[in-house]
Amino acid sequence: MVQHVVVIGAGIVGAACAIELLRDGHRVTILEPGEPGGEQAASYGNGTLLNPSSVIPMSSPGIWRKVPGWLADPLGPLAIRWRYLPRLLPWLTRFLNAGATEAKVAATARALRPLLLEAPERHRRLADEAGVGHLITRQGVLFVFLDRADFESEGMAWRIRRETGVQWLELSADELRQREPSLDRRYTFGVLVEENGQCHDPGAYVAALVRHAQSLGADVRQAKAVGFRIEDRRLRAVLTASDGEIAADKAVIAAGAWSKQLAAAAGDRVPLETERGYHAVIADPGIAPRYPVMPSDGKMGCVMTPQGLRLAGQVELAGLDAAPNWRRAVVLRDFARSVYPGLPHDLAAEQVKFWMGHRPSIADGLPCIGPASRSPDIVHAFGHGHVGLTAGATTARLVAELISGRPPTIEPAPYSAQRF
Ligand SMILES: Cc1cc2nc3c(=O)[nH]c(=O)nc-3n(C[C@H](O)[C@H](O)[C@H](O)COP(=O)(O)OP(=O)(O)OC[C@H]3O[C@@H](n4cnc5c(N)ncnc54)[C@H](O)[C@@H]3O)c2cc1C
Repeated sequence: MVQHVVVIGAGIVGAACAIELLRDGHRVTILEPGEPGGEQAASYGNGTLLNPSSVIPMSSPGIWRKVPGWLADPLGPLAIRWRYLPRLLPWLTRFLNAGATEAKVAATARALRPLLLEAPERHRRLADEAGVGHLITRQGVLFVFLDRADFESEGMAWRIRRETGVQWLELSADELRQREPSLDRRYTFGVLVEENGQCHDPGAYVAALVRHAQSLGADVRQAKAVGFRIEDRRLRAVLTASDGEIAADKAVIAAGAWSKQLAAAAGDRVPLETERGYHAVIADPGIAPRYPVMPSDGKMGCVMTPQGLRLAGQVELAGLDAAPNWRRAVVLRDFARSVYPGLPHDLAAEQVKFWMGHRPSIADGLPCIGPASRSPDIVHAFGHGHVGLTAGATTARLVAELISGRPPTIEPAPYSAQRF
């Protein structure tokens, strides 16, 4: 049955949902207050990686011991702003608990893997349809370490990855040098995960998906959703800030880090926070790395994009409204010099662009996908944290299956918003 579905948010999740819903024959309206794929969205400035191997959540056993350091060092790879701590505490407690044992981390990894598994192929198909297939590649991703002992210090994470089916090639110092000559010599051990891929320009990709959705009949409205009109558990309309009510049979909440209030309006209180992240892009870097690189001592992704070398990473727990701390992006830029000695020493200010964005992160490391408590006509599709670009394509397929009443490709139970 053809239904009118209102998709709230045009980041990667909303854009991909719109296409999958149109494919199933539904009428689609997309609500987005900013530009689809624009700088406001996490989907614009992320690390560009499509990594089925990214199954390990941020929280791990013993991580609570690091909390004082996160509060003390505003420029460390993970930082908490003091002023935000009281509001953060309930989420932080759940977050620390979610990774308290190896068994918990392994359970999260097993639940995440199906959402990530076929990501590069699924994105390639979506991108091909939208005429931007060249943006998606599957060349593998290099994880580089100071030595084998450095790699083994992350033993639990790699053990769990292997248990979920991730395979890799181990590279000696010589092999690493041959694969990636631009790397600094201090890295003497590498792991190449060949199943991983890259979306070279995620902002352009999302914009192209939304244009494609429009060409298939979607109505794109520059509007912000603020709630729902629900009668007898049936959705009647999505309420907007500027355009009044939009009559709807179904709605998808895909507003990324801004989804919490909409989820509450749909009857679900979810522990959603923003893990703010940063990037620095160096235009004309004078080097041409062959692989995306994850340096063990940098906690960041180093990737080539059409705009230049992008260094993406950092986690800052400071809420949706605090001003960016651009010194964090400077840290990323400066660390890049120690990864790639061939980078110019005196970069002109106009050669470097900084960005800050909001990862939508649920405390237990899994997204919310599935029907809402107040009405099954409203479907949650948010909270993908560090892996939303990768997981966006399979999330969209699952959302379309739930709305169209078809058997789901993957088991949706682990992502239920009612699990809290
Ligand atoms: C530094 C960094 C590096 C990352 N690296 C990677 C990576 O390499 N690989 C990976 O898979 N993931 C990565 N991520 C995570 C990934 O970017 C996110 O998980 C993903 O982009 C989330 O997509 P989304 O569509 O849910 O949200 P967003 O992209 O944030 O989009 C949400 C959209 O909803 C709109 N919106 C907000 N409120 C409303 C409203 N009320 N009504 C209508 N619309 C609304 C917003 O304007 C926005 O456009 C990274 C994130 C960061 C910050």
